[in-house]
Amino acid sequence: MGIEEKLPSGVMLTTVEQIAGLVRKTSMWPATFGLACCAIEMMSVGGPHYDLARFGMEKFGATPRQADLMIVAGRVSQKMAPVLRQIYDQMPEPKWVIAMGVCASSGGMFNNYAVVQGVDHVVPVDIYLPGCPPRPEMLLDAVLKLHDKVQNTKLGAQRRKEIDEEEERRMRR
Ligand code: SF4
Repeated sequence: MGIEEKLPSGVMLTTVEQIAGLVRKTSMWPATFGLACCAIEMMSVGGPHYDLARFGMEKFGATPRQADLMIVAGRVSQKMAPVLRQIYDQMPEPKWVIAMGVCASSGGMFNNYAVVQGVDHVVPVDIYLPGCPPRPEMLLDAVLKLHDKVQNTKLGAQRRKEIDEEEERRMRR
């Protein structure tokens, strides 16, 4: 007989990690990072029709120090890349990144010297969202998929190790 079967009804077991995951995913603070046409779709999810607030993250902030999610919406120019990296570095841990649209994910149609061929050359990416532009429902789906990842994120040193490994993979590319 498992320990859970011995507990009186109404008593539930969990872990600190699971509680931290629940709290983090239901209160995410995205940084404002609209770079091109994809940003229009991103902005629309904050409105009443798509109602991003249902998932606990309606407030887009212009302060990286109060943000834990960066939605890179649009192509990243080479000139913008160091700025993007600086903002990412200013966000406190733990933090996550969604590459929204084919341009942010891989450079898309802008296969030229002026555009970064995927924002994962600059910062580690947690979710790649395809489309040109992805519809707002697709962004909501990406947010929910990210929630699963956030829920299962390790605490402290282990999360740092995951990010360091991702950075190392990025540097090798
Ligand atoms: Fe614009 Fe399409 Fe690129 Fe998004 S993926 S930034 S909509 S060209």
